[in-house]
Amino acid sequence: MTNRRKHLRTCRRKKKYGTEQDAKARARGLWRQGIRTVTYLCPVCGGWHLTHAKGSPLSIFRQLEDQP
Ligand SMILES: [Zn+2]
Repeated sequence: MTNRRKHLRTCRRKKKYGTEQDAKARARGLWRQGIRTVTYLCPVCGGWHLTHAKGSPLSIFRQLEDQP
């Protein structure tokens, strides 16, 4: 399976957010429930999705707080 096909399948399953701010707001809400997610720009639809976070909690938290 090519990378693009994989992204396409993932994209269809996921909720799409129109802006990074929307996605981050949702990610923060999940964080309060103990669900660690990070935002990423989707190469398929051009929208933003959430994915389960990998790495240390501190680095993920910094990523969430890092507003432009
Ligand atoms: Zn997408």
